[in-house]
Amino acid sequence: MGKIHVLDDKLANMIAAGEVVERPSSVVKELVENAIDAGSARIEVHMEEGGLQSIRVIDNGHGIAATDCLIAFERHATSKIQKERDLFRIHTLGFRGEALPSIAAVSRMELKSRESGQHSGTQVIMEAGKLLQQKTMGMPTGTEVIVRDLFFNTPARLKYMKTIQTEVGHVSDLLNRLAISHPDISFIFTHNGKTILKTAGDGKLLHVIASIYGTNTARLMVPIEEETIDFTIRGFVGKPEITRANRSYVTTIVNGRFIRNYALNQAVIRGYHTLLPVHRFPIAVLHLEMDPVLIDVNVHPSKLEIRFSKEQELLTIVEQTVRQSLQEKRLIPEITKPERKNPVSSFSSAAVIKPVQQRIDLDRPTQREIETFQRWIEPEKKMIDDKGEEGIPVHQVKEDASPQNYEIVEGQSQTVEKFPAPEERLPSLEPLAQLHGTYIIAQYEDGFYMIDQHAAQERINYEYFYKKLSEQQIESQELLVPITIELTASEAEILRQHRDMFVQVGVELEEFGTHTFRIRAYPQWIPSGEEEAVLREMIEMVINQQQINIGKLREETAINMSCKASIKANQHLTRQEMEALIDQLRQTENPFTCPHGRPITVHFSSYEIQKMFKRVM
Ligand code: ADP
Ligand code: MG
Repeated sequence: MGKIHVLDDKLANMIAAGEVVERPSSVVKELVENAIDAGSARIEVHMEEGGLQSIRVIDNGHGIAATDCLIAFERHATSKIQKERDLFRIHTLGFRGEALPSIAAVSRMELKSRESGQHSGTQVIMEAGKLLQQKTMGMPTGTEVIVRDLFFNTPARLKYMKTIQTEVGHVSDLLNRLAISHPDISFIFTHNGKTILKTAGDGKLLHVIASIYGTNTARLMVPIEEETIDFTIRGFVGKPEITRANRSYVTTIVNGRFIRNYALNQAVIRGYHTLLPVHRFPIAVLHLEMDPVLIDVNVHPSKLEIRFSKEQELLTIVEQTVRQSLQEKRLIPEITKPERKNPVSSFSSAAVIKPVQQRIDLDRPTQREIETFQRWIEPEKKMIDDKGEEGIPVHQVKEDASPQNYEIVEGQSQTVEKFPAPEERLPSLEPLAQLHGTYIIAQYEDGFYMIDQHAAQERINYEYFYKKLSEQQIESQELLVPITIELTASEAEILRQHRDMFVQVGVELEEFGTHTFRIRAYPQWIPSGEEEAVLREMIEMVINQQQINIGKLREETAINMSCKASIKANQHLTRQEMEALIDQLRQTENPFTCPHGRPITVHFSSYEIQKMFKRVM
């Protein structure tokens, strides 16, 4: 007796729902993606009780024809693909035709839609996948979907829901990503009547960043832009002073779609080089455009993970673009008096560190930066956020970047880009005193500066050692008494495989009995007294890091040596020594942070000082 039979539609939809509709954010994702596919300029999401009570999505897209409103709830019903060939040129977010029937199967659902060009709309009411009512009604063009009592008929699923706050968090993350991917669409998200996200939909990515991360963060974002034959990269990267504790603040959008690609993420982070403190990650938003043939979207069913066919090339460009954009900036944090009613005359803990404003001559933006800013930012536009406060600081950013503040740049040839020479990024400071044996106080016409002497020296030494380690011919010296290193069998094997790498940095290793190596020669500029420690740490580095390459070995060794060779805090410096230190610091490529990413210099601007003493208001 045969036991196999085809599932009825209701059961099939409930099973499909189990896959498509995991939690409220999955419902929001499907409905909002449909709204985007419908060409909406404005999408509202209103949720009650973490979405379990109700989720309402309203759009002003092209709507659904009256005759299609019921068909849309059939399984595999879609308007987005027709024939096999279409599968290979998908330009919509959805195409499987599974979302509406799946959501309807596990909720009480209402869909209202009016197709553009039609005089009235259609309303369809479903419960647990069954049609309860269909009628014609008046409404604006577009679609409104309300999902009530999600999972009311699947109690097992309901039990898996986390706290309301967790579910709201998932939806919020999702909408943030969609808003970043579509700056030209206005998104509104409310939960229990409270506005959580509101974007202008004016096409300006920086405005979206301000809506999500706040105006202060947006103010500290540096525009990036690069174009090659295969790739276009645009976006914003945060200055190193606004880091986060995890890498989830690096957002990558490819051809308008949010994606996850670990290698791409790493390339952005590498672009910061030594600017980031350890265990800190940047905020960055990158929009990449490329020919779809360079992407394989179908790698992962949720389409979040994609692969690139020219990946290495892409990663290199991303890293370089990020690095370049940051290098063109002056990155000294500036001390500002906190906004307070009671004036405080001390900077102490009440002081707020802010980046240097762009009004100083030395910080003239390049022509390219001005153009990039102008493209992203419109002068008089200000966004009002839901609390009615003044929103994005774009007005000020624009002012700072506007050409009339930078006549010299404007006067220059349009074709030649001029970046400030590295040594110009730090003004020629005059040292005045040493504070607590640790900080140098120095002045310039725009105020005074505090320099952390240890951090400054570390930066100078780091760049010196890094250069030395990268030289073609490294002057090594032979050791009279070789240093012996004993290892385990597997460690010895790793070291054997990397022996060439050591040769490239001037270290000669010789096998000496089982699992034992001897260091015969090493570069003569290793800080004296620290030779053995430095060499042992290099070997440990290679053994402990699976994917070490010569670049990383150079970098970490240089950091290690720079720390060992630097003057420490609590060390008295003469005026000449201070002058020499500032001088050397000005010659470095990056006079802003020590190799561990801590700031070297803090600026107290004349303006802020005057404000503090109420000489200006
Ligand atoms: P898919 O998006 O994979 O095509 P869905 O089940 O999500 O499948 O939607 C089915 C169809 O309903 C879509 O193909 C589209 O034609 C229509 N549709 C759904 N939501 C909207 C909307 N907000 N605006 C216009 N059409 C919509
Ligand atoms: Mg869909």
